[in-house]
Amino acid sequence: MHLYVHVPFCQRRCSYCDFSIAVRKRIPAEQFVAVVLNEAGTHQLANLDTIYFGGGTPSLLPPDAIASLISHFHRRTTHDARRTVVEVTLEANPEDVTVDKARAWASAGVNRVSLGGQSFDDTVLKWMHRSHDAARIGAAMHALRGAGIENVSLDLIFALPDELHRDWERDLDMALALRPNHLSLYGLTVEPRTPLDRWISRGATHAPDEERYAEEYLFAHRRLTAEGFFFYEVSNAARDGYRSQHNSAYWSGKPYVGLGPAAHSFDGSTRRWNLRAWEAYRRAVAEGRSVVDSEETLTDEQREIERMYLGLRTADGVPSGVVRSLPKSFGAWFYEHAGRLKCTPEGWLRLDSIVAELTMHPETQR
Ligand code: SF4
Repeated sequence: MHLYVHVPFCQRRCSYCDFSIAVRKRIPAEQFVAVVLNEAGTHQLANLDTIYFGGGTPSLLPPDAIASLISHFHRRTTHDARRTVVEVTLEANPEDVTVDKARAWASAGVNRVSLGGQSFDDTVLKWMHRSHDAARIGAAMHALRGAGIENVSLDLIFALPDELHRDWERDLDMALALRPNHLSLYGLTVEPRTPLDRWISRGATHAPDEERYAEEYLFAHRRLTAEGFFFYEVSNAARDGYRSQHNSAYWSGKPYVGLGPAAHSFDGSTRRWNLRAWEAYRRAVAEGRSVVDSEETLTDEQREIERMYLGLRTADGVPSGVVRSLPKSFGAWFYEHAGRLKCTPEGWLRLDSIVAELTMHPETQR
């Protein structure tokens, strides 16, 4: 079992972000812990292998709030199943990481941090509405290592609009110089009703083009592979022993529980998701109502499509037998290894259309 906790608070909204967040100057930490623990009481939390604090900005919660949540979850799982949680990840923004906080997180049980660096170019960071500058990313990495947290992942965003003149090669070099064990690379997407969407509508900037997206993705794939990283998923590259166990569980279809606003839970066949807005979620808990906004039970066909999609986005691929014949035009996008069909980096760039094609043409499937 895997546990996700959505911490919705941010100090401002980044220009590209459409996540479910609540912008707050002061974080209602005590209230958050109380309502999340209340919701936790409605779930079976034995057998927890991983805990992931995502957001939002979980690093805005005071360390003692994080510690009390972790110790509650540990107590539940060790008492019910006598086992230990192996991976506890905290998403953090560089400006929140200090030596003291990093030590407090480590002693609370956090053993993996996913750091939202995004770029090492201060002009780009300002354009993104990020609250940190490039220097803070390095300082955060040092503070985390000093506290004994070696398992640090760095997020970078690529495929930015041309007019920013972002030097992707330089950003990758700067990231590698900090010796992360894991990197997550995300292409910029334009989500409706974000500041970026509004800038594009009034002609103040341009949507990134597909060519830049492909060039930068393939460049990063080559560069990181040459540095000893392995792309175990389309957007995630790790050194040996540093794959995210929590995210790997999602991609292999394992069950998980999500707590907090907008969090999703999955029991193997039914997916439920919570009320999206923090206030609506908080009120529902306070009034003793269910926080579940909606749910869907997957049909056999939907599960098959999902298995194919999740499998192909990872380096494990899908069993070769699942696909009977591939259209000729797909040749450069797949390879077969040890009875599994896997995407090449060029295939990963077209993942959505490949899965759509394979699932719309049943004659390609067994
Ligand atoms: S910090 Fe993360 S969640 Fe918050 S606004 Fe920025 S991208 Fe969105």
